[in-house]
Amino acid sequence: MLSVDEVWAVIDREVLALPSARVPLEQVCGRRLAENICADSDLPAFSRSAIDGYALPAGSQPGRYRLVGESKPGGPAPLAPRQGEAVKVFTGSALPESGIELVMVEDTTLVGDEVIVDVSSSAKPVRARASQAKAGEVLLSGGSLIGPGTIALLATVGASAPRVSPAVKVAHLSTGSELVSVSQNPGLGFIRDSNTPLLAALLAEAGADLSFHARVSERVDDAVAGLEGIEADLFLISGGASVGQYDGTAEILQRLGFVIHSAKVKSRPGKPLIFATRGSQVAFGLPGNPLSHFVCFHLFVRRALDRLTGLLPRKMIAVLLAGQRPEPDLRETWWPAKIRAEAGCLLADPLPWRDSSDLTGLPQANALLRIGSRRTNGLVEAFLFGHLEP
Ligand code: AMP
Ligand code: MG
Repeated sequence: MLSVDEVWAVIDREVLALPSARVPLEQVCGRRLAENICADSDLPAFSRSAIDGYALPAGSQPGRYRLVGESKPGGPAPLAPRQGEAVKVFTGSALPESGIELVMVEDTTLVGDEVIVDVSSSAKPVRARASQAKAGEVLLSGGSLIGPGTIALLATVGASAPRVSPAVKVAHLSTGSELVSVSQNPGLGFIRDSNTPLLAALLAEAGADLSFHARVSERVDDAVAGLEGIEADLFLISGGASVGQYDGTAEILQRLGFVIHSAKVKSRPGKPLIFATRGSQVAFGLPGNPLSHFVCFHLFVRRALDRLTGLLPRKMIAVLLAGQRPEPDLRETWWPAKIRAEAGCLLADPLPWRDSSDLTGLPQANALLRIGSRRTNGLVEAFLFGHLEP
């Protein structure tokens, strides 16, 4: 049985990044950039006004100026005004490269076609050409994570389909004759399939593309038939990962041509986790208990998804235990917790869970605490996967 660290090392060794692809800008949020992005022109590409006001000849003093024209945004730069002249400008109006200064409309009075300048502006209201970046300068490096700010910058430089990490294509099979769909009323002995919507939500959050799902009995033949011929980068099988008579995931994966690298991990919950590969394809057999599912996804599946998309493994953070301290156990425990920031510290409240089928504490969880076999001074490692609420 491998430790969690050992399974991580096996995943890092076996899972390789998928080839990148050009993807329309509207679909790249959350992906990783796979190329450097350069400025396609100077930024800004032309000198422009940052205010509504007037362009005066450089070095002008408060006084009276004759209004000789205006420069609207979207038009060419006007000629520089001559001594005693003013040109009306707006935010975004193109400006001559030199020979002018701007005065804010608030510091002037317009009487007929005469602009009376009361005070000279103190701000720097000209956004000079290339003041942010020069044409050809690298603005974004390959590997950076794409958020809304990145998208605005990509749009500014005309990168309408940047090269990015791919969305991982996932196939999911839930197994077990006791499962009914969420909308059904389970009869005695049956339960609703909560792992399917759980995984769908976790995969959506990770930016993966859940392209196939089916629910089958625990019969190995059914599962093999269900997954045969399915194209995916990542296969997830819920349930049947343990060693009971009806636990067939290891056999299912082997019959589909996967090589099993790890079939058990020294962690609580989530011991019967299976990790396998078939060429560049990756598969996990996830223990059916919903809490095990949740923990195994964050510890292992997410790591494989990150590897496939070329992301580095996410780092753990140190947090201070608050509330009741979880009892250490021989198996490393990954304890759902709510982490909050208080007085500059990150405090973790461990959430209650009675056994690995107990989901009642999960809605509050934003992290998993790593509880080793020995008592600590209160400082523990944590995987933060959710938001820190105020
Ligand atoms: P298994 O890993 O198949 O031995 O299942 C372990 C426990 O998890 C059993 O009590 C199953 O009924 C339950 N379980 C399995 N699959 C699911 C699922 N998709 N949703 C909710 N519970 C499940
Ligand atoms: Mg089962």
